[in-house]
Amino acid sequence: MTVSIDPDLCYGSGECAHRVPSVFAFEDGYGVVRPVRESRGDEGLVREAAELCPSQAITVTE
Ligand code: SF4
Repeated sequence: MTVSIDPDLCYGSGECAHRVPSVFAFEDGYGVVRPVRESRGDEGLVREAAELCPSQAITVTE
């Protein structure tokens, strides 16, 4: 699974970082994907975070 956030779409709601802090972080007012992560078991939460991102800025590629 590859996860990315489009910085042009993210407006910094912070929801992804609150929902899955092991994968997402909130830096400088915007959501970012942590560069190194232990995401085993978080796949479902990551997909949910992408679906619920209010700006649809999160892309998940299997
Ligand atoms: S949930 Fe979406 S809009 Fe909010 S910080 Fe994360 S990527 Fe940005």
